[in-house]
Amino acid sequence: MEDREWVAWKLAEVLPCVMVQQVLAVVGPDGAFPDRMILLASTSGQFSLSSTYREVREMKPLSFLFRQIWDASVPLKVSFFMLRLLSNRLPLDDVLVARGFQLPSKCSCCLVSNTESLRHLFLEGELATTVWQFFGSVGRLALNVNHVWVWLIGWWLKPMKSEQLRFMFRILPSLICWHIWKARNTAVFQGSVQLPTEFASRGQSIITRAADMCATGL
Ligand SMILES: [Zn+2]
Repeated sequence: MEDREWVAWKLAEVLPCVMVQQVLAVVGPDGAFPDRMILLASTSGQFSLSSTYREVREMKPLSFLFRQIWDASVPLKVSFFMLRLLSNRLPLDDVLVARGFQLPSKCSCCLVSNTESLRHLFLEGELATTVWQFFGSVGRLALNVNHVWVWLIGWWLKPMKSEQLRFMFRILPSLICWHIWKARNTAVFQGSVQLPTEFASRGQSIITRAADMCATGL
């Protein structure tokens, strides 16, 4: 600028013609105040990490599936665990093999071991089958699906007569999956196998806990 006016030919040396026109349309500073940086992404003009994050992050529509796992009544560690489960990023044998690890696969949830996978551990194994049938009988849900997602969606979409029941059926699958995962880790890392019948016998305490959450979460 010279004498507080844009110099078009100097702008044209460094900017495309279209941008020169855009710059010329902007009224220059009057010189009464020192120059300062303005961040357009922020309403105050000040730089902040939150406004910059909002500016650069990739906005996606909210997924029904992933929305179900976040609730103030559910411990964050359980919600993050469910995020990994739904993304198939739990360190199960089939995932490790797919990433190049050479290992024999042996599940810890059946009396006769099978290959460990997300579908097997959380849906088709003896532990999962027993546990889901126990809890599914409460909501009259039939375990005749072939994907964990489909099974969970069945729980989350089940019509309910009250807000309390809807809330309970939203958080119960996360708690159940979390306890299956804990039982699996206990078996793998401590060698203590939990029989499906023992696990199912604890079902009442899980339901009680969900009911407590239901009471405090509404
Ligand atoms: Zn198994």
